Amino acid sequence: MLFIGSHVGFKKDTQLLGSLEEALSYGANTFMFYTGAPQNTNRYPIEDGLTLSALSKMREEHIDYSKVIVHAPYIVNLANDKDPSKFSFSVSFLQEELARCEQLGIQYLVLHPGSHVGLGVEQGISNIAKGLDMILGTHPVTILLETMAGKGTEIGSILEEIQAIMDLVSHKEYLGVCLDTCHLHDAGYDMSHFDDFLDQFDSLIGIDKIYCVHVNDSKNVLGAHKDRHENIGFGQIGFDSLTKIIYHPKLENVPKILETPYIDREKAPYRYEISMIRQKKFDPDLISKIKMEK
Ligand code: FE
Ligand code: FE
Ligand code: ZN
Repeated sequence: MLFIGSHVGFKKDTQLLGSLEEALSYGANTFMFYTGAPQNTNRYPIEDGLTLSALSKMREEHIDYSKVIVHAPYIVNLANDKDPSKFSFSVSFLQEELARCEQLGIQYLVLHPGSHVGLGVEQGISNIAKGLDMILGTHPVTILLETMAGKGTEIGSILEEIQAIMDLVSHKEYLGVCLDTCHLHDAGYDMSHFDDFLDQFDSLIGIDKIYCVHVNDSKNVLGAHKDRHENIGFGQIGFDSLTKIIYHPKLENVPKILETPYIDREKAPYRYEISMIRQKKFDPDLISKIKMEK
């Protein structure tokens, strides 16, 4: 079965119920959200009443809540221990984030591995593993390391780096991977040869460790290390390669999440992109149709 959705908002007053309603308005059957703003760590208390209303609505709508994902904010950086207070802030924030996930009944938290900011890849990897070991297993939540584009000093643009982190961590049962097609392409992995990529992934890490796929096209050429997402079919990866990934039999039950850009900064493209993906046919007029929407 295809599990397809997008990232959606999570607002103070509506919380999970608002996120669910936004996802349903896109024709999605799964979704991903940040428990607050992606770029900061201010978080409101979770209101269980809203969570319960959302859960009963999900039962009515036949949404499999086990496929719904939370994404940690970008600014958490476990790779950097130059400033010990920043490192311990990242650890304690993630600890609280795991607790929020548990309270919400969420099983998967996507995390950017981190940037080594000049400390070197090896030191960065050991810092990430150290930080993860301080929090994994304290809550029944699995952290998914996201594959990165390799912008700046980002760790995780090479599969061997993800593998190295996973090898060092003790609580491996609470660790998985989130693929991001734009990031993989920007890191230099050719998405038009996805079977070769999956074979490589399987031999290094194991396909069973993939619990989420971020499906994004890319504005930049293969290996650009830029990380600029594009709408589905309008970038350098293209509709056919992305559709093959979305419908790949080995990733059948893995949720696919769109993080493609808004049109004119205010119009979410997801209802259109999801419908195009379900029809398996590229619509070159998609963007202009969204622009015309009131
Ligand atoms: Fe991400
Ligand atoms: Fe992503
Ligand atoms: Zn990205």
